[in-house]
Amino acid sequence: MIIKKSPAEIEAMKEAGRVSAKVLREVGLQVRPGVSTLELDELAEQLIRMEGAIPAFKGYGGFPGSICASVNEQIVHGIPSASVILQEGDIISIDTGAIVDGWVGDNAWTYPVGSISPEKQKLLDTTEACMWAGLDAAVAGNRLGDIGHAVQSIAEDEGYGVVREYVGHGIGHDMHEDPNVPNYGRRHTGLRLEEGMVLAIEPMINMGTYKTRKMPDGWLVCTRDGKPSAHFEKTVAITKDGPLVLTTEVDHRRPV
Ligand code: MG
Repeated sequence: MIIKKSPAEIEAMKEAGRVSAKVLREVGLQVRPGVSTLELDELAEQLIRMEGAIPAFKGYGGFPGSICASVNEQIVHGIPSASVILQEGDIISIDTGAIVDGWVGDNAWTYPVGSISPEKQKLLDTTEACMWAGLDAAVAGNRLGDIGHAVQSIAEDEGYGVVREYVGHGIGHDMHEDPNVPNYGRRHTGLRLEEGMVLAIEPMINMGTYKTRKMPDGWLVCTRDGKPSAHFEKTVAITKDGPLVLTTEVDHRRPV
């Protein structure tokens, strides 16, 4: 069941979005060679709690961290660990969310660790472009397939694989609400988007095959061919004035 949000509820969700975005940015600033993903997780939890918010991920389905930290061929849901030490040339997807007044914000960004290869940089740039194209398509009257198509066409033009098994989602009082928001699809197909829907749009784009492999810890998802993967996410509300990104520290459409 899709739970639409009133303009007042969307306004209330901005605070969860702001905290989620601030924490992601500040944790991203600490990404460098030699840092462990557990250190990043501890910083994220501290920052979230300093805002009077609750880490949305911690304890979700038993997940132990306040961030998901997914390095190189890891696509999503990496458990933060003292034994995962970032190395020069890595890329790391950090996904985090905060709960404020019962509303959830969810966002992710993939950061370079030190200097990275041109191939990895292109993967990051393309996946970010996929995310913006998906957000731009989050317009009342469009359909879910328009979002998926916008993401998929940019990724596949570069020969990249679009992850199928993991998708974006509705979000509100729960982190994962209906509908699923695939990063693939055909134009003018699927559920019609309406004002008041709030979605987390999150392309997961692989340098090689779209195929994935779930690791034995039951969480971590990797590319089947071991090639790198990138992941960018923002929470967006569909409003009468168009897409409104909620996971931002400043109130405008294209946050830096
Ligand atoms: Mg999400």
